[in-house]
Amino acid sequence: MAQNWPKHIVIVGGGTAGWLAAMMLSDVALRQKTGTRVTVIESSKIGVIGVGEGSTAVFRQMLRHFGLDEEEFLRETGATIKYGIRHRDWRRLGHSYDGPIDTPQMVAGGANLDTYAVAAGRSVGEAHLFQHLLNGRKAPFALKDGKRVAAGPFHYAFHFDQALVGAWLRRKARGIALIDDQVVGVEKGEDGIVALALESGSRVEADFFLDCTGFRRRLIGEMGAEWLSFRDVLPINRAMPFWVDIKPGEEIDPCTLAWAQKSGWLWWIPTQGRYGAGYVYSDAHCTPDQAKAEIEAALGYEIHPRNDIKIDAGRLKEAWIGNCVAVGLSSSFLEPLEATSIHGTIVQMMMLSEWLGQGDGRARYNAATGQQVDDFRDFIRLHYVSERRDSAFWRDIAASHPQVVTDRLALWQGHVPQPADFARFPPGLEHLGLAHVQEQLYVPVLGGLGLLNRDAARVVMAANPKGRDLARKTHASLVAEYTNAAAQCLPHRAWLQSLSD
Ligand SMILES: Cc1cc2nc3c(=O)[nH]c(=O)nc-3n(C[C@H](O)[C@H](O)[C@H](O)COP(=O)(O)OP(=O)(O)OC[C@H]3O[C@@H](n4cnc5c(N)ncnc54)[C@H](O)[C@@H]3O)c2cc1C
Repeated sequence: MAQNWPKHIVIVGGGTAGWLAAMMLSDVALRQKTGTRVTVIESSKIGVIGVGEGSTAVFRQMLRHFGLDEEEFLRETGATIKYGIRHRDWRRLGHSYDGPIDTPQMVAGGANLDTYAVAAGRSVGEAHLFQHLLNGRKAPFALKDGKRVAAGPFHYAFHFDQALVGAWLRRKARGIALIDDQVVGVEKGEDGIVALALESGSRVEADFFLDCTGFRRRLIGEMGAEWLSFRDVLPINRAMPFWVDIKPGEEIDPCTLAWAQKSGWLWWIPTQGRYGAGYVYSDAHCTPDQAKAEIEAALGYEIHPRNDIKIDAGRLKEAWIGNCVAVGLSSSFLEPLEATSIHGTIVQMMMLSEWLGQGDGRARYNAATGQQVDDFRDFIRLHYVSERRDSAFWRDIAASHPQVVTDRLALWQGHVPQPADFARFPPGLEHLGLAHVQEQLYVPVLGGLGLLNRDAARVVMAANPKGRDLARKTHASLVAEYTNAAAQCLPHRAWLQSLSD
């Protein structure tokens, strides 16, 4: 698999993207004895992003893959558990729905749980263990005879401050050379980058480079990379992050809150000591002062924004050019509604590990990463199919849904989303079982927005009485099992606290 790997890979950037890339690539290089050296160049003079981030379940799989201790991770980074996203005021003011990220279909023995739930007029979240844990604000463990017992087989996600996670990954990384310096020049030859010039005056040569310099795009910018802006599809272009302390004794919700506002939405991510929060909004619809005032009115107290970041949703047309690959914020950015960024980095590094050194590797990588980000974009945009018309932002959104969204909604008037509605991802690497945005994520969002067709689901169920019986029984048994499991689990905050005692 990893033949013809470069002899020396230099990764510029020490944020989450840089350290995840370094760990994942050096791990493959060691296991497959490619003889590759990995060097990270990061600049302690330039900060990392760190706004309070949510991960997906892939992050936990990554911890396990590296044999990293989850409890230590939670303790040392102050992370919390995330079972999904609570969407408040998206469908209409006063309405809320959840998107639990576990996959009960995995244990349903072929029963069509979603179609059954829609046909029966029940919430699709009911058969999800994570919905019950989220409702009860529970940890994913119960105590039995003094021993910790997992509530279920599904991987949950985390909330954290990526600046702390980047630093933790850096401490865990083994066999990676580190240079604290700033790249000030990029020396190019016929086949791409030859060497980097550093502020200290030194020069670093390598045969492969990763640009993890965040929004600066310090290397890939020199390679003539082209940015494809998504501003027509995702009009949000500003982010105003702030912190809010968690009060002593206050229970910590094991979910991200995405709270729709008049010109965008508020993210609200609990870490153990504070909420990482922020308003992502469209500056065509409100000024920064209005944005701040709107959030203060919603929360009922003054906020102290740490920044007001200009963001341009989009991606590089090609993230891999010559011998340079852009990873993390340097390669793409989408509003963080479904926590796609760090997830994207992990999956991209798995793809790069497979395709690096292969003749057609670059073309395959560029096609797959392009598809990945475009699929995330379309899924995010679907969240905006709302009944809200109470501000210019929501009226403009309602008048401009892209064709891909209206086509999909038309398709799903005929049936509840099924695996067959989605192209498998990534092409050619299906055996890796990488999570992607497919029916398991679409169904709770469509259900929450009231966009699933109960009559069509009833027709599907009625056409297959045996299947309907199986779905009904399986659904009832999962609901009972998960209600019971969640009742026995420890409270989220107390459990997190116990890890530090
Ligand atoms: C508002 C907002 C909310 C977000 N929410 C989420 C979320 O909920 N979930 C999620 O998955 N992601 C989220 N993200 C994205 C997430 O923060 C990033 O994917 C993640 O932090 C990785 O960032 P990075 O490592 O690419 O860049 P950064 O964190 O910006 O790191 C860049 C690194 O490059 C170094 N560097 C830059 N220039 C040079 C140079 N010339 N020489 C040497 N070093 C250099 C810096 O020192 C730094 O170490 C969010 C982002 C924003 C902006």
